[in-house]
Amino acid sequence: MHAHELVDWIADYLENIEEYPVKSQLKPGEVYDKLPLQMPQEGEAFAKIMQDFNEFILPGVTHWQSPNFFAYFPANSSYASLLGEMLTSAMGAQCMKWETSPAATELEQKVMEWLKVLLGLPEKWHGVIQDTASTSSLVAVLTAREYYTDYSINKHGFGTWGSFRIYCSDEAHSSIEKAVRIAGFGSENLVKIETDEAFQLKPEALLSAITEDKNNNRQPLCVVATIGTTGTTAVDPLKEIGKICTDYDIWFHIDAAFAGSAMILPEYRWMNKGLNYADSFVFNPHKWLFTNFDCSAYYAKDKQALTKTFQLIPEYLKTRADKEVNNYSDWGIQLGRRFRALKLWFVLRSFGKRGLQDKIRFHISIAKDLEERINDTSDFEMLAPRTVSLLCFRYHPAGIHDENELNRINEGLLHEVNATGTIYITHTKLNGKYAIRMVTGQTNVEPHHVERAWDLIREISGKIA
Ligand SMILES: *Cc1c(COP(=O)(O)O)cnc(C)c1O
Repeated sequence: MHAHELVDWIADYLENIEEYPVKSQLKPGEVYDKLPLQMPQEGEAFAKIMQDFNEFILPGVTHWQSPNFFAYFPANSSYASLLGEMLTSAMGAQCMKWETSPAATELEQKVMEWLKVLLGLPEKWHGVIQDTASTSSLVAVLTAREYYTDYSINKHGFGTWGSFRIYCSDEAHSSIEKAVRIAGFGSENLVKIETDEAFQLKPEALLSAITEDKNNNRQPLCVVATIGTTGTTAVDPLKEIGKICTDYDIWFHIDAAFAGSAMILPEYRWMNKGLNYADSFVFNPHKWLFTNFDCSAYYAKDKQALTKTFQLIPEYLKTRADKEVNNYSDWGIQLGRRFRALKLWFVLRSFGKRGLQDKIRFHISIAKDLEERINDTSDFEMLAPRTVSLLCFRYHPAGIHDENELNRINEGLLHEVNATGTIYITHTKLNGKYAIRMVTGQTNVEPHHVERAWDLIREISGKIA
């Protein structure tokens, strides 16, 4: 009944999104304190709920779909995705098994095959949609654990097994350490391998860590490499790492959460080199492929290893079709699954390969233009090489050499910029240096947004030091 009204609201919101402060300017507790102590006794009118939404909730929202959002990595969306998601939510289907919605399973299989070709992934891989990259990497680590113990830890617990080692670079995402904790290995058994000056994992350091562990009777189990680290979008040398994994019979997982989307461009196909060594791979269409959160594409080389790790079928979940179909609840952690393939299908069809490529290429070109400007500005400097659409830089006024002071200045700059509400940027630390991170990957970002952001950063930097 109110759906038409709401769709109008959504259309107006997205059209006027630049009028809101990108980053919510509220303080902790402000939303909570405005909400009543108790839920209503009787149902309330839709108009009243919407009014409170506008008044209490909206000011506490950070607008991720604003083209002035340059923070973290984008969680971007598009009209196609949003409309697909509306249908998903209208049908409210629970897509745990083939039988509980055959179209959901078969569409998922199809779009994952399309994506595989789009990114140039190995033909024999099997794809499934997970909620997030964090879950996908956990699924990878758990599969590795079971595969190399003949599926015995699932049954008996760790028992006498207990000296497994997992490796990733010191720039890998925190979700890897979380996965290692949850899988029962313990953070101490995650070996963080040092990176080179371009923040890429050093294969020789990996090799020596593995040999040292073997000499000490520890079992190297899994290596996680990253295509596009969160700090700087560095790409680890997959081929060298893959060869080491093959030589030592170690599971090789690749986390391409954000930058994986660039693999749809022929000029970024170099990122695929060494993929054939991988046992599992994840990238997030919900980051940079215009499909709204959540939608994480997970690929496994060995489908049996995956389902043997996760399949568990009580009587009430048995169906006649089980032997003939994919039941995706056997391919990961959750039983209940949303119909996520639908929005992805809407996106892939309405953009087409060309449309997706044009968008990603455009985002990268905007980043490249800004990189040139930064390099041409004497009191700013890049702190890491640019790979795709992320820039890491800092303000470095002449005459200031103390690193702590530079860190303080840049932290101040970042917060003052964000306090304007005009744009939203975030930071990281690179070799102890406070770096401003700016990503030009929001669906609707245009050069004039980036120009205005750059002008604002420079203007405020001039007032700071
Ligand atoms: C963002 C990111 C993740 C986490 O993604 P989620 O889908 O939010 O779990 C993992 N790895 C890398 C490299 C990332 O950039």
